[in-house]
Amino acid sequence: MCIRKKTRKIKIGNIFIGGDAPVSVQSMCNTDTRDVEATVKQIKELIQAGCEIVRVAVPDMEAAKSLGKIKEQINIPLVADIHFSAEFAMEAVKQGVDKLRINPGNIGSEEKVAMLAEACNKKGIPIRIGVNAGSLEKDILEKYNGKATSEGMVESAMRHIKILEDNNFFDIIVSLKASDIERTVEAYKLLSEKVNYPLHLGITEAGTSFRGAIMSAIGLGIILYEGLGDTIRVSLTANPVEEIRVAWEILKSLGLRKKGILVTSCPTCGRTEIDLIKLAQDVENALEGMEKDIKVSVMGCVVNGPGEAKEADLAIVGGKGVGLIMKKGEILKKVDEKELLREFLKEVKNF
Ligand code: SF4
Repeated sequence: MCIRKKTRKIKIGNIFIGGDAPVSVQSMCNTDTRDVEATVKQIKELIQAGCEIVRVAVPDMEAAKSLGKIKEQINIPLVADIHFSAEFAMEAVKQGVDKLRINPGNIGSEEKVAMLAEACNKKGIPIRIGVNAGSLEKDILEKYNGKATSEGMVESAMRHIKILEDNNFFDIIVSLKASDIERTVEAYKLLSEKVNYPLHLGITEAGTSFRGAIMSAIGLGIILYEGLGDTIRVSLTANPVEEIRVAWEILKSLGLRKKGILVTSCPTCGRTEIDLIKLAQDVENALEGMEKDIKVSVMGCVVNGPGEAKEADLAIVGGKGVGLIMKKGEILKKVDEKELLREFLKEVKNF
């Protein structure tokens, strides 16, 4: 793994983004923000899954006025996602949000930007500039022959950054989202050469659960592996709780964060003599949410199983209708297939 780039460390509510802070996991509610009860309920589900920062859409003043009531019922930073309206943004600031997602170049007059920058500076509220390939400024598109290139995306971001910097505002986080991996990776790398602000990573319009998870794992994985990225949002056309699960798997797979029990399992083959697919799934389901810093492995046979099991704290190695339970590579006991899950979970609990 490359050395992680130390970006500017920015406080957002009760956590930090950038600097030496761990890469944080965030998501966005798909509830109507005006429906405080439904939004808080979803945020609590997201928190339960491991969400560390949550964003809500603010399409009108009523939504902006709901932010305070939402904020007082949750314990993670709340981000207001606003397009074009300085008025909604000022109301969000008044309501006590922890961060704004707004592009200063789109909110009108210089006075409005100055007023917002001053209000955010006063309250210590950072701003995320979110550049989307699909909505680049006309003149930038024209410059690149009508194409939303990675260079164009960076140019757009630099424009918004400059507006804030000119207003003495520096608590800036930037995202550069495109729906394809190549442009996204290229854009983040280019921007990172120019500025030291923390990067919010995401592949936009990644798709439904399966495709979106793969797109995000590859795209975000490449950028994170380069040592870039300070917070991630996996975008899925699905329940946002799914986004959190995928985000954590990406970070865990890269060794960037630890959360819960790491479960590995073999792919099964002609040597497998127990119902390993079901067993591995049952183990994974049973251990979900259990906060223990251990690695467990579910292996199908004695050919490769014991060797692989040595790398795990606890392992199951399947045989014919039976399974070995191993601890740090040593055999603990031999158990009938029917009792395997129960006995194994007991060992995990006691580990
Ligand atoms: Fe096949 Fe055994 Fe390897 Fe599993 S561990 S894939 S059953 S050889």
